[in-house]
Amino acid sequence: MAKADAALRDGPAAPLGVQPDGQLPLPWLADGLAAARQLAGAHALLIHGPAGAGHFDMAVLLAQTLLCESVPAGTAAARACGRCASCHLVATRAHPDLRLVLPAALRVQRGWTDEDDYIAPKGEAKPSRELRIDQVRAAIDWAQQTSGRGRAKVLLLHPADALNLSAANALLKTLEEPPGQMRVLLTSADPEHLLPTVRSRCQRLRIALPPVDQARAWLLGQGLDAPEALLALAGGSPLEALAWVQEGFTPALLSGLPRRVAAGDAAALQGRPIPRVVELLLKLAHDAQVQAAGGAPRFFAAAGLPGGTDLAALRTWQQALLRVARHDEHPWSAALLVESLVSQAAAVWPAPAPARGASLHSAR
Ligand SMILES: [Zn+2]
Repeated sequence: MAKADAALRDGPAAPLGVQPDGQLPLPWLADGLAAARQLAGAHALLIHGPAGAGHFDMAVLLAQTLLCESVPAGTAAARACGRCASCHLVATRAHPDLRLVLPAALRVQRGWTDEDDYIAPKGEAKPSRELRIDQVRAAIDWAQQTSGRGRAKVLLLHPADALNLSAANALLKTLEEPPGQMRVLLTSADPEHLLPTVRSRCQRLRIALPPVDQARAWLLGQGLDAPEALLALAGGSPLEALAWVQEGFTPALLSGLPRRVAAGDAAALQGRPIPRVVELLLKLAHDAQVQAAGGAPRFFAAAGLPGGTDLAALRTWQQALLRVARHDEHPWSAALLVESLVSQAAAVWPAPAPARGASLHSAR
């Protein structure tokens, strides 16, 4: 995990919310922001949509809009100005009326270990990936205090999927009757798995992934050359595609990966975060299955996939991958686990056939 965290911490911390020039941090959030005007009266709002659509940025934009001091009080603005004192405080995570509640692991990933409610791991190997009850209780205490700048207060929980059962239950009363001028914003890529009692107390705002052209243009703007293959691998999410690159997955490495895995060569995957390795191998297994059934692969270019798939071995491999995906902690060392998963892949392709014709190339 260390490698990925370091990559994301590099460089200056990006300011949050609308930029001083009025630009959105992610241009495709404009639609969601406009739709949110209809929900201006919601005390509790659940922002949901496919993974990698920019849930956190959307929530910050809404918080910034509610707090922006250029917007006349009592009116529903489409977006914050990005220039007033309040907007600046939001951008720098210093606004007294905005509380960001994130799992410790996400704070570490963003380099935000300076916050009041950041809980450093005590005697634990890794920072928590859950939103814990002590974080929620501290946020509820905060919610009771008077607004610092007298406008509104926004409690932002990201992602709500990370709320454990006791933390979710502790939040229910605040969701139902937020004190005073308080608004609660939650995010989720998988709202059907939230507690029904949490879901039912929120109004919903759906956000979407950008169209391919917009995603591609944004990635080019981030300095990625020929981002199409990465975008396909990331399921159409430019944020995900960027994360892959920041973790050291270059397009060249990824295009050669299916054949290396089929040959039992785990070197390219060693030292990578286990969830990423498993995600990548599951996507490869998915494509192998689709291709064996005569369909077009979704994540990898068809030309790069090995042929001669043993379907029984493929099913066994997929089950092994899913078992690993379900568990956060693994009894084995990461290196042994990766080695084992890749050696099982060699059985799926007992004798990889030569590359398929480039005419089958389907990368978007
Ligand atoms: Zn403003």
